[in-house]
Amino acid sequence: MIYLDHAATSPLRPAAREAMAPFLDVRFGNPSGLYAIGRDAQEALDEARAAVAACLGARPSEIIFTSGATESINTALFGISYALRRAGAGNHVITSAIEHHAAIHAAAFLEELGFDVTTVGCDASGRVSLAEIDRAIRPGTILVNVMLANNEVGTIQPIPEIVALAHQCGALVHCDAAQAVGKVPLDVGSWGVDLLSISAHKLYGPKGIGALYVTQRVRKAAIHPQIFGGGQESGLRSGTQNVPGIVGLGEACEIARVSMAEESWRISQLRDAFESGLRAVIPGIHVNGDLENRLPGNSSITFPEIEADALILNMPDVALSVGSACHSGAIEPSHVLTAIGLSRDLAHSTVRVGWGRFNVEDDVAAAVARVSEAYFRLA
Ligand SMILES: *Cc1c(COP(=O)(O)O)cnc(C)c1O
Repeated sequence: MIYLDHAATSPLRPAAREAMAPFLDVRFGNPSGLYAIGRDAQEALDEARAAVAACLGARPSEIIFTSGATESINTALFGISYALRRAGAGNHVITSAIEHHAAIHAAAFLEELGFDVTTVGCDASGRVSLAEIDRAIRPGTILVNVMLANNEVGTIQPIPEIVALAHQCGALVHCDAAQAVGKVPLDVGSWGVDLLSISAHKLYGPKGIGALYVTQRVRKAAIHPQIFGGGQESGLRSGTQNVPGIVGLGEACEIARVSMAEESWRISQLRDAFESGLRAVIPGIHVNGDLENRLPGNSSITFPEIEADALILNMPDVALSVGSACHSGAIEPSHVLTAIGLSRDLAHSTVRVGWGRFNVEDDVAAAVARVSEAYFRLA
């Protein structure tokens, strides 16, 4: 099987599994325990927190562990909106049309809770419109929510520019970096972003663990917890921490930090070779996204006149997704593909290929062969 769905999830790195193993076994202490194995677990948390912070350009005290990017995004959107409305700062939230469902559905619920939500669009390459954000921002805008890299078309957003626009009007910025962390340069400190969400399983860590970056300023004044209990994670996310998961996330972040530049380059070479190989045999394909500015492993390809589902079912030993994995089984076309201007038909003819760490050069020719065989069977 050739695994080409790294945007959906990635396999666990052996080093992360090895780092986690003792915490599933003899090092089982609760980090709140004052005895040796409790302190041992607390030290493991501290170390992982430092590794995650280093990977993002943050301070360890700014990292909150959560169950994944979905929870981080929900905590950010609801925690900020509630706290700032209560403080009288306003009622208006801006989000983009191409966010992950975690943010799309959270924003819809914010609307139900009485918040005023503006959704800004993007251009044909998937780049969110700065002009639309600029027009939407007004007194009473409390939060601007834009992802760093899109999970379907891979486009990377100009987050520092968005932060500058938002901060001029006193709005905070949350950024979903689940796809981007470990793949493209990311520096929350110099960008000035206020909150940022990541997930371990998109960067070769375990599933069910992630983190939310929150600045001290926001923590003190502008965010309310969404999960109540024993006060873990500075009171922002109660519940005994998932110590093995956190250790795995820390290890994955540490390896990503030191190996990102080289790995991303190698993976983008595989992706580019795949795209040009495929174009040579099927000239009618279209590659979506911002080709100058996208995730190194992402390839969103439209095969006009072909149903993406049928194409995928015709190559059982290649793992890739229709437009977006989250849309599998859905009749509605992907909101991202329609936001970049694809018709329903073209959106249903689009597959998402996600190259990653464990792909090798031989996978390129094999993938071109499998995809083109399936295509010509259907065309
Ligand atoms: C995967 C993903 C999420 C959700 O992350 P989980 O850890 O699986 O909850 C959110 N946003 C983006 C962009 C993603 O790719």
